[in-house]
Amino acid sequence: MHIPTIGSALRRTIVTAVLALAASACTAGVATDHAQAPAARPVAAVAPAPGAEPFQALVDDAHARFAGVRDGKNADYIPILATIPSELYGVAIATRDGRVYTAGDVDYRFSIQSVSKPFTAALVMQQYGGPEIIAEKIGVEPTGLPFNSKLALEIHKAKSVNPLVNAGAIAAVSLVKAKNEKDRWQLVLRNLEDFAGDPKLPLLEKVYDSEYSTAFGNRGIANLLFNSERLYSDPEEALRVYTKQCSVGINTVDLALMGATLANGGVNPKTGKRVLDETSVPELLAIMLTAGFYDESGRWSFDAGLPAKTGVGGGIVAVVPGRFAIAAFSPRLNEAGNSVRAQKAIRYIAGKLGVGIFGANGQ
Ligand code: GLN
Repeated sequence: MHIPTIGSALRRTIVTAVLALAASACTAGVATDHAQAPAARPVAAVAPAPGAEPFQALVDDAHARFAGVRDGKNADYIPILATIPSELYGVAIATRDGRVYTAGDVDYRFSIQSVSKPFTAALVMQQYGGPEIIAEKIGVEPTGLPFNSKLALEIHKAKSVNPLVNAGAIAAVSLVKAKNEKDRWQLVLRNLEDFAGDPKLPLLEKVYDSEYSTAFGNRGIANLLFNSERLYSDPEEALRVYTKQCSVGINTVDLALMGATLANGGVNPKTGKRVLDETSVPELLAIMLTAGFYDESGRWSFDAGLPAKTGVGGGIVAVVPGRFAIAAFSPRLNEAGNSVRAQKAIRYIAGKLGVGIFGANGQ
């Protein structure tokens, strides 16, 4: 190219055009970032226009598409979970501005189980002034092992591995700053209620009794952690409060709103209450991406590309940061303890919308 031969007027025109193009690209980039970023500004300013995304149609479609799936089976190591009707199946999306789209059995209250784990980790982050406490006292490495693994405790000797497996979740409960056991439980429960925007979530007493009376493995884990100074309260107290935490009853809409609170940068979209500092949300979502599905976390990230958390009660919630959450519930689980239908429904919706955080994941 012979730039020097271009007349100065023409050169000015080209430079102006290039600058204008660059400026418009920047503006477009900023706009996109605003749409994706956790809420730092009024929700309405960044939320998609009502009806802009086909959420209701997709929720209906995902529900219908997998309603016939019979794969997997209810958890039964907590005896009462085997008695929950396996056919139950609900799907919901909650947006960062509090709109909710549902299909199926979304009012049925099931036990939150391990879906509670990231939310109690969030409480610990709040109490200790940020996410570093989790890395320091619990750990953030995925185990590649089942959620109740004792082997993981030996492999990851220095830490109780991460707050989304049983060991790390019991440790997170033990880290909650509380005056006594009752206070610890109230703080944990209130935090789950704040995330759901529901002032009164029930403790499902029968689930608690069923799990606590058979919690020999988790008791072993709590004692092993305590023995190696990786548990920060009395082990039996931590075990009881952890088991109560897992026995809290939620429905699929609660679950979607809990996720939407994370999508909304830590502010509950229904109540407007800040539950988690915006600066802690990325770290929490990172742990959910790498460990939310236990030893299937790699496959889940590969398939859906979204931070998510599962529970043996059959619930799963996935977060599309800065935008919305997709929740689903169905009791039949696969080998890793993750709900088969809930997983399929969420992955289907995420795939259709192309909202994986690294780009659109294929179907
Ligand atoms: N309460 C259950 C347990 O401790 C939670 C496990 C889960 O949901 N994956 O085993």
